[in-house]
Amino acid sequence: MNTTTKQPPNPRPPMKSKPQRRCVACREMKDKSSLIRITATAEGEIQLDPSGKAPGRGAYICRDEQCMKKAHKIKGLERSLKRKIPSEVYAKLLE
Ligand SMILES: [Zn+2]
Repeated sequence: MNTTTKQPPNPRPPMKSKPQRRCVACREMKDKSSLIRITATAEGEIQLDPSGKAPGRGAYICRDEQCMKKAHKIKGLERSLKRKIPSEVYAKLLE
């Protein structure tokens, strides 16, 4: 008799895929690579961090005009970085 033991289906792909971060505007978790990181330096300067590697506190926004506008409107970056965000920073995001 041929007893074919069925292989159990893969339980789930391992969860260690890509690092995820939350967008300050839409609050969705996304791949870090699809978000823009904004950091606050020790001097209190707000900088865009396209590399995602700058030191300091970081906040993330989708690479999406709607989210950038929304972040501005709801002051998502202010809340996340706990400091005032000059409007130039938002202007830069929207460039
Ligand atoms: Zn978003």
